[in-house]
Amino acid sequence: MSAAIIDGKAFAAGLRARVADAVPAFAAAAGRAPGLAVVLVGEDPASQVYVRAKGRAVEAAGMASFAHTLPAETAQVDLLALVRDLNADERVDGILVQLPLPAQIDEAAVIEAIDPAKDVDGFTRDNAGRLAVGAPGLIPCTPLGCLMLLRDRLGDLSGLEAVVVGRSNIVGKPMAQLLLRDHCTVTIAHSRTRDLAEVVRRADIVVAAVGDDDMGDWLKPGATVIDVGINRVDGALVGDVDFASASQVAGAITPVPGGVGPMTIAILLRNTLVAAHGRAGLAPPEGL
Ligand code: NAP
Repeated sequence: MSAAIIDGKAFAAGLRARVADAVPAFAAAAGRAPGLAVVLVGEDPASQVYVRAKGRAVEAAGMASFAHTLPAETAQVDLLALVRDLNADERVDGILVQLPLPAQIDEAAVIEAIDPAKDVDGFTRDNAGRLAVGAPGLIPCTPLGCLMLLRDRLGDLSGLEAVVVGRSNIVGKPMAQLLLRDHCTVTIAHSRTRDLAEVVRRADIVVAAVGDDDMGDWLKPGATVIDVGINRVDGALVGDVDFASASQVAGAITPVPGGVGPMTIAILLRNTLVAAHGRAGLAPPEGL
């Protein structure tokens, strides 16, 4: 079997266009464009690339971008003061603090300082709790992007066996919640899972979010594989799943790059637009 390639880049381009199309109506109703503030602390090269890409995407969608770059030695109290200012800034609908943060800063404290209504990453306890109990809220970008690709590929996910490999708060756990909300039978695997191969082999849907390019080719024939992992091997970007062997067994698979990565930024724009509507007391646009 040769798997269909799930083209995240094309899907993300369509979503970004739909978001951009909805911006003028918001601006007309609210008297201003939606705004996203992105905060970068330090000079991590990968983070700088992500932050620049996010700023460009925000401007291309017709939204206002507010970039804040702070030195690596920034004290926690100063970062918290900036977050408070952004919470109070009426032009700012979304606040994204690029992770990881330098060691002297408590990441959890900074995330919790973000107004949940502006938490476009969906990382605050308020939004994580809303997802867990099925209340409306802002949903983490990467898992929501994965879910959209799965729905686009498979339609109704009801009753499918889904295995999420990885249990981080930013990918694995919210991914599992979203699949459960879509009525999958969900297993979360992690580094202590016994016989990971056997667990993965029963899945109709595999979401790999491990950060290690070592996942074997343990797939059930025809499975749909979403590869979240980003690993650099000999200077090239690869996912967690061995693409060459997995694509012989899977029914469909996301490539790395060009799969989940572009969806993350597209959902960030979507979440900013949704947050802007929520703050302005407007109904969110349909089809996003
Ligand atoms: P993380 O916080 O490091 O979590 C990794 C998870 O994988 C942990 O739950 C860990 O288990 C589990 N794990 C590690 N080794 C394992 C093994 N051998 N077998 C089974 N499970 C194993 O990482 P993350 O933030 O969730 O990110 C995961 C990957 O996605 C990374 O490569 C990251 O770069 C990528 N990512 C991509 C995007 C994107 O836009 N494409 C966005 C976010 C993240 P324990 O909990 O037991 O330690």
